[in-house]
Amino acid sequence: MRFDIITIFPGFFSGIFDHGIVKRALATGLIRIDIQDLRSFTHDRHRTVDDRPFGGGEGMVLKPEPLVAAVESLGVAPKLERDKQRESVILLSAQGAKFTQSVARELATLDRIVMICGRYEGVDERVNELVCDRELSIGDYVLSGGELGAAVVVDATMRLVPGVLGNEDSSAFESFGPSDVHFADDGQGSPRSTHGSGGILDYPHYTRPAEFRGLIVPEVLAGGDHAAIRKWRRQQALEKTLRNRPDLLETAELSGQDRAFLAELARQNP
Ligand code: SAH
Repeated sequence: MRFDIITIFPGFFSGIFDHGIVKRALATGLIRIDIQDLRSFTHDRHRTVDDRPFGGGEGMVLKPEPLVAAVESLGVAPKLERDKQRESVILLSAQGAKFTQSVARELATLDRIVMICGRYEGVDERVNELVCDRELSIGDYVLSGGELGAAVVVDATMRLVPGVLGNEDSSAFESFGPSDVHFADDGQGSPRSTHGSGGILDYPHYTRPAEFRGLIVPEVLAGGDHAAIRKWRRQQALEKTLRNRPDLLETAELSGQDRAFLAELARQNP
């Protein structure tokens, strides 16, 4: 899978992809990341990438010509044929649709992703119209540039590309994971595969030492009762989701046991 990131600050990315799973995926050739310096697509002496906004107002806007030239130089398919080619051109934007794990899963099926990082007040809207397939926001806050957003999209997407994680189950059985709710009720399988989270948060993890500063690892995890471990983890995940992200419970796939447990929690803490 190939990522291209178009930016006025190419130096921003030096080092950011040199660690852990991204570094390994780059080394093994499963992914490739190219940084494109927007200024090299300008033709004036000052290498101008921005200009004042039509209609007035503060700040500067990234000009359309260098951005469109940058995208066109990369040889991606024309906008209407992108789907077929498994390519996408993405504009990072605070006004974009929210980047979530399910968007990451969708992007991970593509062969090529081009990302445009805005700066200043943003990007001339015609860039969006002419060459972008989607606008993505990494959250409800305003960043000073799209670079951190692009790095977030690369990180979350590349780890879902087949072969990148050593253990494919890791991405199925984590926060926001795909549903495998049937598994939850039938009590089969090893405790490693608790079950797909079905849209809720991950359960808490523990490692050695068994006792730390007076806090002892929950007893059930030290025993060999796989069904009990699975049940405990699911309940912990539900409890944490209720506490930190109750909104997720509205759309999560819940089993009968899950609902009964949540009802019991509600009864204990009205
Ligand atoms: N005037 C814009 C903000 C511009 S911030 C507005 O009010 O919506 C400058 C650039 O930072 C944007 O063009 C975009 O590329 C990037 N950016 C800011 N917030 C972002 C977010 N939440 N997600 C992704 N990119 C963001």
